[in-house]
Amino acid sequence: MPWSRIPDHLRLRPVPVLYLDLDGTVREGKDDPLGRFVNGPEDVRVFPAAVEMMRRWKAGGGRVIGVSNQGGIALGHVTTAQVVAAMSETQRQADSLFDRIAWCSHHPKAAGPEWARCWCRKPAPGLLIQAAVSLGAECGEYYPPHLGLMVGDRSEDMLCAHRSGLDFEWAADWRARAGEQRSAAK
Ligand SMILES: [Mg+2]
Ligand SMILES: [Zn+2]
Repeated sequence: MPWSRIPDHLRLRPVPVLYLDLDGTVREGKDDPLGRFVNGPEDVRVFPAAVEMMRRWKAGGGRVIGVSNQGGIALGHVTTAQVVAAMSETQRQADSLFDRIAWCSHHPKAAGPEWARCWCRKPAPGLLIQAAVSLGAECGEYYPPHLGLMVGDRSEDMLCAHRSGLDFEWAADWRARAGEQRSAAK
């Protein structure tokens, strides 16, 4: 059998991946005390409970991938440079626990089709798949959906998880587990 026909799950190491929405999940967003969109790095406030949960996932040998809709780029509300700077600040406040942060720059209300149409804006599954395939190729790993988990605060995150074959957990429940397990361990 040619090497290329050997399925990934037989030749690469299977690794669990935690896919995290950012705004309202890992960092404060519109529905949190911040009360608005995250634009630049000055807006970034990462939840300590999210960092704790990321640390636990990685202690178990897993990977963590951030997945964020940044349609403000397509609409001209923010620049790519601002988003890149905000992502760097997010990674810094998260103790560099992200193995990758991926975002969609498109928005259905953008003027041109090249900015309006894509397969990466959640709830489409493309952002997660692209990030997982490229990270997996770099690391010589395989990320089977049944080992993964997606956490988010919006219905599009839940739908995206279902379309990607992943389990889903609401952000507030996920962050609350950071405190529960710590006290249970005492
Ligand atoms: Mg969100
Ligand atoms: Zn997109």
